[in-house]
Amino acid sequence: MIHRLCGFLLLTTFTVAQNPSLKEVDKVYSQAHALYVDLHEHPELSAHETQTAAKLAAKLRSVGYEVTEHVGGTGVVALLKNGAGPTIMLRTELDALPVEEQTGLPYASKVHTQDDAGRDVPVMHACGHDLHMAALLGTAEIMAASKNGWHGTLILIGQPAEEAIHGADGMIRDGLFTRFPKPDAIVALHVSNAFPAGMVAITPGVYNTNSDSVRITIYGKGGHGAMPQTTVDPIVIAARTILSLQTIVSREIKPGEMAVVTVGYIRAGTKNNIIPDRAEMGLTVRTFRTDVRKQILAAITRIADSEASAAGAPREPSVERYEGTDLVYNNPELAERMRVPLEAALGKNNVVTAEPITPSEDFSYYVGQGIPGFYFSLGGADPQALAEAKANGKPLPSNHSPFFAPDVDPALHTGIEAEVAVLRSLLNTSSEELHKFAATLQP
Ligand SMILES: [Zn+2]
Ligand SMILES: [Zn+2]
Repeated sequence: MIHRLCGFLLLTTFTVAQNPSLKEVDKVYSQAHALYVDLHEHPELSAHETQTAAKLAAKLRSVGYEVTEHVGGTGVVALLKNGAGPTIMLRTELDALPVEEQTGLPYASKVHTQDDAGRDVPVMHACGHDLHMAALLGTAEIMAASKNGWHGTLILIGQPAEEAIHGADGMIRDGLFTRFPKPDAIVALHVSNAFPAGMVAITPGVYNTNSDSVRITIYGKGGHGAMPQTTVDPIVIAARTILSLQTIVSREIKPGEMAVVTVGYIRAGTKNNIIPDRAEMGLTVRTFRTDVRKQILAAITRIADSEASAAGAPREPSVERYEGTDLVYNNPELAERMRVPLEAALGKNNVVTAEPITPSEDFSYYVGQGIPGFYFSLGGADPQALAEAKANGKPLPSNHSPFFAPDVDPALHTGIEAEVAVLRSLLNTSSEELHKFAATLQP
């Protein structure tokens, strides 16, 4: 009871202090920016983020956090306890992508490495995870220096292998929610060129898509390219299958329902005069709804089976869903609640509402553990360049492009301000109240 009263007093006393002042951000900015430049120059691929994790862990330790490394591979967990109160988690990703940087920035990556298949690949922070880590560091410092403005437990995590969508699952399996306090809410942001730097965007409800990766292996009967009568040609079956797959979205799904079925690769054969004995293809499937997702996955199997059987294939094709992730769901009430501190910190005009997007994210694994999540977008585009791009109809480079280069100074400042505002607001809310959001997770 006494604690409740204290909480109430804190809430009223610190309403103003909840908004991070520019002075607070300026104080931590140079260290955050230095980490950004260092990480940008030295990117590492998914599940190989050893130096990245070590740098982030050392910085968080130096500003007063209790840090555990190697959680679910290279994952980092940093705790800051500040008395009784809710437990709130903020997440950044650690990984970069096999992309050859072409931004021309003075700190552009020149890194090459071997990927898991042993191929030489370039590496670049083409998704902005370097900016997320830098923002998290700035936020960490401000939160540690302003412990009189909040109470509870703050957990910051550096998650490996987001781009391979298995890092969140790996951290959970390694005890993220059992070895450490289970949070009452979890927060993350993602930088994007869809919005100008200085702004954030909120998407209440469905934020992005369910994603499924499917591998189809078609079995034929190999032989001489000049004697097709002795073979069952898997390349012809694959070609028919690919065309039939196009009818799933166009003929089987209700018009207007979001659905994507893309065949992203096909591999078969070694030489022009040999009919191979198998063909393999890889698909990505994106949906907003669980029933549509099930319908499409069933249709893929049905079509692959039927095309193989129509051609007299010696055995059924194998259809494997080898990876996937659920969509990220923002509890709508929680998202609207977070609009208040964000508007107070950034100004009403700098907080917009955005439509769901089609790329996917493994943040959904945390929400899947029954924890209400707030995942929002951080503007990354140079405002003038974005205005020009909109006027001339040529979009700015998206995430994963070799030219992706956020407008760092305003984006990083805003990222820190936004994270601090959201965390302070959540850390001044009671666990009981946050649990109400958990009761209304994705329907
Ligand atoms: Zn990405
Ligand atoms: Zn990303």
